[in-house]
Amino acid sequence: MTVPLLSLEQVTKIYPGGVTALDRVSLRVDPGRTTGLVGESGSGKSTLARLALGLIAPDSGTVRFDGQDPHRLRGRAARGTRARLQFVPQHPRGSLNPALRAGAAVSLALAAQGVPRRERAERTAALFGQVGLDPGLARRYPRELSGGQVQRVAIARALATEPDLVVCDEPTSALDRSAQARMLDLLTELQQDSDLAYLFISHDLAVVRHLADQVSVLRHGRVVEHGPAARLWDEPAHPYTRALLGGV
Ligand code: ADP
Ligand code: MG
Repeated sequence: MTVPLLSLEQVTKIYPGGVTALDRVSLRVDPGRTTGLVGESGSGKSTLARLALGLIAPDSGTVRFDGQDPHRLRGRAARGTRARLQFVPQHPRGSLNPALRAGAAVSLALAAQGVPRRERAERTAALFGQVGLDPGLARRYPRELSGGQVQRVAIARALATEPDLVVCDEPTSALDRSAQARMLDLLTELQQDSDLAYLFISHDLAVVRHLADQVSVLRHGRVVEHGPAARLWDEPAHPYTRALLGGV
């Protein structure tokens, strides 16, 4: 049996004020594979992303990335693990420094990894190429790039640390249809060349099924259905999954 790269076991998260965002949720991502997480707005998807990244701790249950609790890592182990566990947010414009050119954003991520200065320009150009961006765009500021281009910069920056897992929280929901399709193609391509795993989050099962091997359906903080993406799409067992599909 494969040892999971990321696992959540019976995780509960209650926010101050008493909102139970997640209620005994279990989920795993295997090395080199994609787990999809779908659910409507407010179902707890981003909370699960923050737990996976170790940004917040669960109230009960366990989170493990490569066998370790990502929230409790300190010092050198934390730096190493953070590099292997990356995040692509829904609104990358908000996560890029507006005063920094796109190339500098990627170059800084390389610097943080200890890549020597003389190698950074070449590595940055290579990463731009990898995500389908003209390296000439490295000189632009985020405001001078389209939404799709900014998202690619965010992906290039995430890849700079050669991660094992990228948590993608609705990475295409701010894009138009065609940019969305190209983004999914890119994420698929990047995975084919490497052992990259994704936790791919979306409110749209139609988007998730193209990428994911396994899908969990989240409703009001509970997993109501889980299984192979194709099975959920063809034969949804839970009425909520059917309702999600009905909305397509
Ligand atoms: P999703 O990403 O699926 O839209 P979230 O994980 O963002 O869901 O939110 C799940 C629930 O937790 C919602 O009811 C939301 O209002 C609540 N919530 C999210 N973040 C916080 C917070 N920092 N403090 C209090 N409640 C929160
Ligand atoms: Mg969210």
